[in-house]
Amino acid sequence: MTDAQCQIPNNIDICVIGGGPAGLEAAIAARQLGASVVIVDDNPRLGGQLIKQTHKFFGSKAHYCGVRGFNIAEILTAAVDKLNIHALTSATVVGYYDNDDLGILTEDRLFSLKAKRYIFATGASEHMLAFENADLPGVYGAGAVQTIMNEYGVVPGKKALVIGSGNIGLIVPYQLLQAGVEVAAIVEILDKVGGYYVHSAKIKRAGVPLFLKHTIIEAKGSDCVEAAVITKVGENFECLLGTEQTIECDMILIAIGLSPLGELLYQTGCRIDYIPELGGHVPYHDDNMLTSKFHIFVCGDLACIEEASTAMLEGKIAGAKAYESLYGENKKSKEIVAQAKEELNIIRSSPFEERILFGRTKLKTSTTK
Ligand SMILES: Cc1cc2nc3c(=O)[nH]c(=O)nc-3n(C[C@H](O)[C@H](O)[C@H](O)COP(=O)(O)OP(=O)(O)OC[C@H]3O[C@@H](n4cnc5c(N)ncnc54)[C@H](O)[C@@H]3O)c2cc1C
Repeated sequence: MTDAQCQIPNNIDICVIGGGPAGLEAAIAARQLGASVVIVDDNPRLGGQLIKQTHKFFGSKAHYCGVRGFNIAEILTAAVDKLNIHALTSATVVGYYDNDDLGILTEDRLFSLKAKRYIFATGASEHMLAFENADLPGVYGAGAVQTIMNEYGVVPGKKALVIGSGNIGLIVPYQLLQAGVEVAAIVEILDKVGGYYVHSAKIKRAGVPLFLKHTIIEAKGSDCVEAAVITKVGENFECLLGTEQTIECDMILIAIGLSPLGELLYQTGCRIDYIPELGGHVPYHDDNMLTSKFHIFVCGDLACIEEASTAMLEGKIAGAKAYESLYGENKKSKEIVAQAKEELNIIRSSPFEERILFGRTKLKTSTTK
């Protein structure tokens, strides 16, 4: 039922906003327990970021290890269909009103929707960077390039320069190479690569130059990007004069991090805390993904910038807990929550997750009102 025009059921128990991995798992868990569920997503297809991820995931079997991201999206969408979850696609939630209604905009309609519980799973937005001519055509967010290339099958350019060496800054250039695009270099302001070794090793093997302790200061070109100027940075990240070098390229990909996409949630009046380790301004939430409002739950990148596996587990918890808040606990709901929490604990006990754990402790002890 992925047609925005079809009849929306009355008396909806739970509305999930965002059909990425977090929102889909939330909807599936709540529906499996017996709640009536609607998912709203602004894309034509469900899956969120997974749709553009052509690489195989790693981790454990429970987290789809060895399965490509877009195949995970297909698996979750099939489960949504099988459970008869009502999915509104190409539908943007544009407002949350004082009477707790959502405003939803489709191609030809603006209408309101009310549910007893809401699960916000709106994901994240990419950080941008200010430098001279940063508005020239050819300067992209790395995620946007991934969408153009992997979702729409368009080769986005001939030669790319990537800024940032986190996982996205390593995965996207590798996918560019696979699409026949030359990667001029990856530029990283820190003194070490940010992403996992498994991704950086592939890039190194492909012979892509990596400039550590460097940043971009200018894009060159009249109508579109023709080159970029990079420079070394000092101890305090100041640009070191005289170290500038020009790199020819027709695309500059910015991959310097994500921020939780919280603008819609802010309209609910939920408490928001500033926890840099979790991605910046994040909704306060407890271990059950419940916000400061009794009827609003959150999950995925909106709650904390992490990864798809943790987004899915948080989604399961949010879905089961939203159900329990309406109908009470039962054996199955308790099992879903306990298992997802156990798996989250395992993932978060990895040394890579220390920052997240620290951030979550800060969130628990934060006293912002
Ligand atoms: C470019 C990129 C590459 C990544 N690569 C990997 C990777 O290789 N491995 C990995 O584990 N993780 C990766 N991640 C991270 C992972 O994709 C995210 O952690 C995960 O997708 C978060 O899931 P989510 O459901 O919270 O958000 P998303 O997947 O972003 O889903 C949110 C959905 O909500 C929709 N939405 C937002 N606002 C509204 C609104 N107002 N109305 C209706 N719909 C709305 C969005 O369009 C989107 O479909 C990557 C992320 C990015 C950005």
